[in-house]
Amino acid sequence: MNLRRLLLLSQFPFWALLVVAFLFLSSTLNTRVKTTERASQTRAQLAAVAQVMQHVVDLETGLRGYVITGELAFLEPYNAAKVALPRELAVLERDGNAQGLGRIRTLIDRWQAEVAAPELLARQDSAAAAAALVKTGRGKKILDAIRAEVAAYSAGQTQTLQALETSALAQLRQLRLTLYSVGGLALLSSLLATLYSAHKLSGSFGHFTAAARRLTSGESGVHVDPSGPAEIQVLAGAFNHMSGALALAQQQTQAHADTLVARNDWMHRLGEFGDWMQAARSLEEGARILECALPELLPGTRGTLLQHNASRNLLVPLATWGGETGAATPPDGCWALRRGEIVSPGMDRLAPACLGGLGGSYMCVPLFSHGETLGIMRLRPEVEGVEVPESLRALLPGIVRQVSLALAGLRLQDRLLQQSIRDPLTGLFNRRRLEDDLATQTAHATASGQPLSLIALDVDHFKRLNDTFGHDAGDAALVRLSAALRDVAPPGSTPARPGGEEFSLLLPGHDLAAATLLAERLRAEIAGWALTHAGISLGQLTVSLGVAGYAPPLSTPDALVRAADEALYSAKRQGRNRVERAEPLHPESWLALMPG
Ligand code: GH3
Ligand code: MG
Ligand code: MG
Repeated sequence: MNLRRLLLLSQFPFWALLVVAFLFLSSTLNTRVKTTERASQTRAQLAAVAQVMQHVVDLETGLRGYVITGELAFLEPYNAAKVALPRELAVLERDGNAQGLGRIRTLIDRWQAEVAAPELLARQDSAAAAAALVKTGRGKKILDAIRAEVAAYSAGQTQTLQALETSALAQLRQLRLTLYSVGGLALLSSLLATLYSAHKLSGSFGHFTAAARRLTSGESGVHVDPSGPAEIQVLAGAFNHMSGALALAQQQTQAHADTLVARNDWMHRLGEFGDWMQAARSLEEGARILECALPELLPGTRGTLLQHNASRNLLVPLATWGGETGAATPPDGCWALRRGEIVSPGMDRLAPACLGGLGGSYMCVPLFSHGETLGIMRLRPEVEGVEVPESLRALLPGIVRQVSLALAGLRLQDRLLQQSIRDPLTGLFNRRRLEDDLATQTAHATASGQPLSLIALDVDHFKRLNDTFGHDAGDAALVRLSAALRDVAPPGSTPARPGGEEFSLLLPGHDLAAATLLAERLRAEIAGWALTHAGISLGQLTVSLGVAGYAPPLSTPDALVRAADEALYSAKRQGRNRVERAEPLHPESWLALMPG
């Protein structure tokens, strides 16, 4: 049912009542009008009867005057009444009681025929003859009868008039009662119909209001019952559709917000990663940070970060994550490096696998910075067969840019550091690094009680070698010596070239005896060389070595160096190509070695 039909139906009783009331009222009014008309007719009849009686009196009076006087003038009322009477009677007969009127007419006609006509005729002859006729009383008798008939007729009409007026009054009361009843009923039915319609509509719209309130308070998936009039059903359908669309929009907004939060979180972690990389001092430290950060920045993946080695003929693993075991690989076999873009064998249809036989699906991302190729990042899904999500692939360039920048910075930092602590000719540590390590290791030895020794080495008659074979030959000899020193240097020791043709080896964990043995081994090895340069034999090269042990708490780094130098000079003095060690002196002797 639609709303229009509901409203029509709810108003129907009211309208039906109005129609019935109208019909009833109009019928009552008709009756009332007819009654009034009949009453008017009755009143007219009464007046007409009175008029007829008046004419009868005029007839009788005129006749009597003429009979008594013989004057024709007395007959004027008689003649006038005689003319008017039939007309009046005809009017009365048309609307009135024909029976009563018939009797009156008959009596009047009898009076005319039996009284008036004979008396008029007799009067023309003689007044006495006429008086004799009057004296018979016949005229009076008929006139009394006429009077009685007229009175009876008037009484009947008066009675009818009274009945009509009583009936009219009753009809008026009935009309008033009907009006009150119909008015009251119409008012009541209109009120009930309005209340019913309002109840129906407010019930329906109440559902909408409640549902709209729930929607605006943030509830989603609100539905209204789609029952009721057709318009309400359409409205409910539209509302439910809107509510569904709103819920969908809310879900999408929430999903976007979640994505933004996740993205923001990810950007925060990327920023943190950048901060940590900034704080790294070496590639080694950077690699450890990468191994912690990459699983977080690239969740659901495992992989390896490979960088070029020094000679750029191999990509060597720098960092791995997600349980990947990185292996060195030649750069020529990497399509990502060749093309300078991300390559995804196993994911991209056209991308061939890297030369070297890597299986499964993976991605190779080249690392560039300042126009230099640093290496590649190779990653694959943590679970084989599951694709790296597109969202993560979209993030890759950002991460790789950050990683490349950080790596380039660390490589530069490393290069500068090496330059600042390495001797460029031999690659050994320089004096600055030796002094740093001396300070560190003496402090450590003091704290831990671990032994610490220092070997000082000087090439014998190096000036002569230079002078004889040239500076290049001298340099070559120095490089060869440095290699020998590096070979004998144990892990954790500091092989250094403090300057000129002098070398040092700082030996943590070695006491004086162990250091002396090592120095002797080195000396003997060098002495056994048959050095050549440019095809020319350089003759025997010998070195002199001085060895000193660190003896805390009385010793200092400077005292250790001086003790080793003293032992070295002692070796020189004693003929060179030998090892001398500073005897572990008692405290007074150490104090004598100290400056001041
Ligand atoms: P001694 O046995 O007493 O140590 O004699 P020596 O000739 O080795 O000592 P001296 O101090 O007289 O000479 C050291 C020489 O080392 C002088 C210098 O020309 C040479 N020299 C120092 N640095 C270098 C270098 O980097 N390359 C070369 N080729 N020679 C160097
Ligand atoms: Mg020297
Ligand atoms: Mg020398």
